[in-house]
Amino acid sequence: MNLQKLVRSNIYSLKPYSCARDEFKGEASVYLDANENPMNAPYNRYPDPLQWKLKEKIAKIKHVRPEQIMLGNGSDEPIDLVFRIFCEPKEDNIVAIEPTYGMYKVCADINNVEYLKAFLNEDFTLDANRVLAAVNEKTKIIFLCSPNNPTGNLLNRAEMLKIVENFGGIVVIDEAYIDFSSEKSWLEELSNHPNIIVLQTFSKAWGLASVRCGMAFASEEIISYFNKVKYPYNINLLTQNFVSEQLDYEDRKNEWVSMLLEQRTNLEKELKKLPFVEKIYPTDANFLLVKVPNANGIYQYLVNKGVIVRNRNTVSLCQGGLRVTVGTLKENQTLMFELQKFKENFV
Ligand SMILES: *Cc1c(COP(=O)(O)O)cnc(C)c1O
Repeated sequence: MNLQKLVRSNIYSLKPYSCARDEFKGEASVYLDANENPMNAPYNRYPDPLQWKLKEKIAKIKHVRPEQIMLGNGSDEPIDLVFRIFCEPKEDNIVAIEPTYGMYKVCADINNVEYLKAFLNEDFTLDANRVLAAVNEKTKIIFLCSPNNPTGNLLNRAEMLKIVENFGGIVVIDEAYIDFSSEKSWLEELSNHPNIIVLQTFSKAWGLASVRCGMAFASEEIISYFNKVKYPYNINLLTQNFVSEQLDYEDRKNEWVSMLLEQRTNLEKELKKLPFVEKIYPTDANFLLVKVPNANGIYQYLVNKGVIVRNRNTVSLCQGGLRVTVGTLKENQTLMFELQKFKENFV
């Protein structure tokens, strides 16, 4: 893969902002280089722009090198940055599966980059040939999300591989829900496929959505472009320290995942008993896509009861779809209690 040909020429030749902490690395006793206030330690100091301490911890857990990691303000930041690194506005395009996570389209629109859709099959399985057929000579990126949002299913690995191996551009694999999934991550394929970027996040299984910390994993060369383009101090010290601390509790994260998967099984079983539930799609994530005849009506009914689910009725191939996040036992019981009352009115 020739990365120089894929990266926008202005980014390729960009001389990034050089901050005080880039120029001097190491320990010193007196820091008079960054116009910081000497009082109010440790928050008076600019944080490490490349978050090495945190990355070293993540690297150990994920079995990658720290240089293969970019940390962002949620995964939303690396999603935006891939457009800015690879796509010339009004000229290049990207291909994404349809339906999928909405941020890819929003970032394409913001960056004035054409967004081409490659539909999944009716059952939300991936057809690699359809994705590859949507590609043209101006396609720089293909977005694959597995497990996919809002459908919940894993994409078939062999189909994904076909795309990764036959596309000459970048393949972004969004693994926001990978911790809930039975499939292994694409992380271990990083060294075999220099054109993939794997996205993961602390927002879901780790229970840290409010902290805004997402991860992009790729070749060191691709990560070096992320580092050029991102804001120098994109991850603040509070976040770096807090996420670092939370990483010590991986066991707790795994326990949450087991609990939620158990809850998901129960919820699925209960939902299936409702006469108006037409279908529950297979899921490998912490949510269920449920097909009902009157999604808008049920959605509004639940809103009035103070229970909010995600109405996906207008999303391609998801007509009648409500996306339900798996909550605590009590939250799921409240949902079921209200739906059972709705059932009484329904029959
Ligand atoms: C929730 C989600 C994310 C996470 O976004 P953050 O910005 O990290 O909170 C990324 N991709 C998909 C598909 C998601 O559903």
